[in-house]
Amino acid sequence: MPTEIDVFELTRAGHSLEGCVPVSSLVRLSSLLASQEGEVTWRIDGWRQRDAASIEQLHLRLRASATVGLPCGRCLGVVHLPVAIDRGFLLAANEAQAAQLDDTEEDLDVLVASRQFLVLELLEDEAILALPPASSHAQCERPELSGRAASPGKEATSVDDSARRSPFAALQSLKRKPSS
Ligand SMILES: [Zn+2]
Repeated sequence: MPTEIDVFELTRAGHSLEGCVPVSSLVRLSSLLASQEGEVTWRIDGWRQRDAASIEQLHLRLRASATVGLPCGRCLGVVHLPVAIDRGFLLAANEAQAAQLDDTEEDLDVLVASRQFLVLELLEDEAILALPPASSHAQCERPELSGRAASPGKEATSVDDSARRSPFAALQSLKRKPSS
């Protein structure tokens, strides 16, 4: 798996690279997650194009997707959420040019070009930025935890009510009667 790429060559040739990395191998990302399972599939495209002043610019586009396990804000279980990345970058020859381009470029992020460009570093940075700020299950598997914390008395009452009204509960009580 290529983790270092020559972006001068990639953009000159107009090539693409793709790969798949385990979430657990991205240490900074996985430290923010509730589960180390899953993979990140990624693809990077490079090309060159001339700007309005006919100056050749180096472009990268990073796309990636993964399903990550985040901690649920209510029950502390694992919430599996999809994360998608689609970002465009403009490559600068050096730090000084990058600072200059950063001031004028509005749509693209500016990176410093390198012959040992660390794709997975960029992928991990972008995946961290793409994580939702807060997450919780639509319906927690362990609602008793959140129910007890929120309103202990009320929760117990509503459980009793629903059991009483449920046709399955009625069926259970019939089954429990002696058959004789
Ligand atoms: Zn939950």
